[in-house]
Amino acid sequence: MEWLGVHFTTQLPASGQVILNCAHNPFLVMLAYVVACAASFATLDMTERIRHAEKPAAQRLWCWVGAGCLAGGIWAMHFISMLAFQAPIEIQYQMPITLTSLLFALTASWLAMHTLRRPHLNFWQYLRAAVCIGLGIATMHYVGMAAMRSNATAYYHPDLFALSIVIAIGASLAALLISSYLRHGSGVFHQLLKYTASLVLGAGIVSMHFTGMAALDLVLPDNSLLPLPGDNNHLQLGLTVAVMTLLVIGSSISAALADKKLQHKERDLQRVNTLVGQLDQARLSLQQMAHYDALTNLINRRGFNQIFAERLIEKTNEGGMLAVMFLDIDHFKRVNDSLGHDAGDELLRILANHIKASVRSHEDVVARFGGDEFCILIGLHDREEARHMAQLIMLKMQEPIEFSGQHMVMTTSIGISLFPEDGKTCEELLKNADLALYQSKGNGRNGLHFFRQDMKARATREHPLEEELRQALHANIGLMLYYQPILDLKTGQVSKLEALVHWQHPELGLLAPDRFIAIAEANGLIAELDNWVLRKACEDLGELSSHGSEGLKIIVKCSPLNLTRIAFADEVKHALRAAGVAQHRIELEVTENVLVAMPLAELRPVLNEINQRKQSRNFSPLSLARGTTALTSTDLFPGIPGSHAVASIVRPIH
Ligand code: GH3
Ligand code: MG
Repeated sequence: MEWLGVHFTTQLPASGQVILNCAHNPFLVMLAYVVACAASFATLDMTERIRHAEKPAAQRLWCWVGAGCLAGGIWAMHFISMLAFQAPIEIQYQMPITLTSLLFALTASWLAMHTLRRPHLNFWQYLRAAVCIGLGIATMHYVGMAAMRSNATAYYHPDLFALSIVIAIGASLAALLISSYLRHGSGVFHQLLKYTASLVLGAGIVSMHFTGMAALDLVLPDNSLLPLPGDNNHLQLGLTVAVMTLLVIGSSISAALADKKLQHKERDLQRVNTLVGQLDQARLSLQQMAHYDALTNLINRRGFNQIFAERLIEKTNEGGMLAVMFLDIDHFKRVNDSLGHDAGDELLRILANHIKASVRSHEDVVARFGGDEFCILIGLHDREEARHMAQLIMLKMQEPIEFSGQHMVMTTSIGISLFPEDGKTCEELLKNADLALYQSKGNGRNGLHFFRQDMKARATREHPLEEELRQALHANIGLMLYYQPILDLKTGQVSKLEALVHWQHPELGLLAPDRFIAIAEANGLIAELDNWVLRKACEDLGELSSHGSEGLKIIVKCSPLNLTRIAFADEVKHALRAAGVAQHRIELEVTENVLVAMPLAELRPVLNEINQRKQSRNFSPLSLARGTTALTSTDLFPGIPGSHAVASIVRPIH
């Protein structure tokens, strides 16, 4: 039977001579196997490259390189194997047909690589591809065989012929499955697996060839003479083809390896770039944290100082005026104490927004220095502009805030220093603004003050006084009570004594209350001082009583801030008990200097406190001298039964 020019027979023709002593050169067979293995390894390697290449162009390139290696390898294997074939006849190969067989090899290999480019295939798709590839390889082989020219006719055994095609398909399927499995993974085991797979695939390709050769019978016509095998240069040619093929495959593998390393380097570079980006981000965050206040998102002291220094240089060089405003919310602690710290935080955020809303957004710098203290830097032309701006801020701050279900009115105190007249450096200007703020606080809050030189002098005087007053209170040294008798015009008797605290200062001599009460109030010492006065007055009254003055009363001045303290009632009770003095003999008078200066918003909580305590019983207004009003209560302090202590809320009557 003849099909496509190939003779198939199960029985050789009756006439003719079968050439039986055909053989293969073992060295060239080994060489063919090595080339097949190298081609298999290159195919596996290129599959891996395709898998790892990110760009489609690179994938296409490696697909073609892989196809070239596989086709070149299979074809070279076939060529060398044919050179290994030794028959006792003269055999020639037709070059055009031989080269045509290379085309089939190339087509089959391209199909193999193209199949492996696809990320996911099921088994049937692999099988379909393997059939095509196997048929391509078989076609290459038999077209190559067809290039053989000799006196003999080639007959093929159909079974072995079919088996060679099955082997070609099987080897192709194995190659596809192994390649797709091995394209993932890395490491030594993976590499070993690749080598083993290459040996197996190489064996598959070689088996196909030699099964095809086993199917071949060469039959010479009858009576033709069997020529003696002459010398040929098959070994040399085989070696040359093998070396060239191995060189090409080796170069491709090296290129793949270099590309792999390059890709790793690129990835490393990308990772480094990402890390650098992250570091940049972290640096920016740190900078943000270092220069911004997390609660209000305003810049913090450090950020402010940096901008301040720059503006100062600018103004020093170009001329111009700057105002530094120190703001401190009045009685902010009360919000924390009554509504909690979280509510305090929320309020700080709202107030920060109020401040931001009151300034010119681009030119002015608003910072939170910590706590309830803010600082604003303003470029301006004259002092009045600063005053105007400060007043605007104060008005904005006084807008009622609906907060935690309550309407709240907060006030703020402001201190202002001006560049260049109040200082040339940041520190000096900030310190002077702080002094001006201190003055605003001292003057009853909710006010603004510009820095004046005399504030500096007062501050240097006051600072040691504050510390010394603290020590005097702790050590109970130097403080003393002076009594001012109050005459009852009806009886002509001294009915009361007004206790006035004095301080025998070791250097300044005897200081009247007006020299240090304000300092005590501004520095949180007033509660302690009032308590000391109360205890001492009770002690003195006890002493006076033991000398016969049982009807005498003592008036003790007390800061209105004290009335809002929960412990205050207990302190009064304790002082009275300790001295054994009846409650009605002590009158508490709220000092007018602070109270008069208190804005209505601040007066309200004090009055509320008193109202809560009096529970609306026996609370009647009482007129006092000098156009003032006093409120008396017998149960102002419910903890003291039958108390006759008098709380005098003193305000001018206009
Ligand atoms: P003054 O009128 O004298 O300013 O009295 P003040 O109650 O406002 O007290 P001062 O300004 O001396 O202290 C500010 C208080 O603010 C102290 C602290 O209890 C509170 N505070 C500080 N930082 C924070 C904060 O981050 N959140 C909250 N909620 N409160 C703070
Ligand atoms: Mg404050």
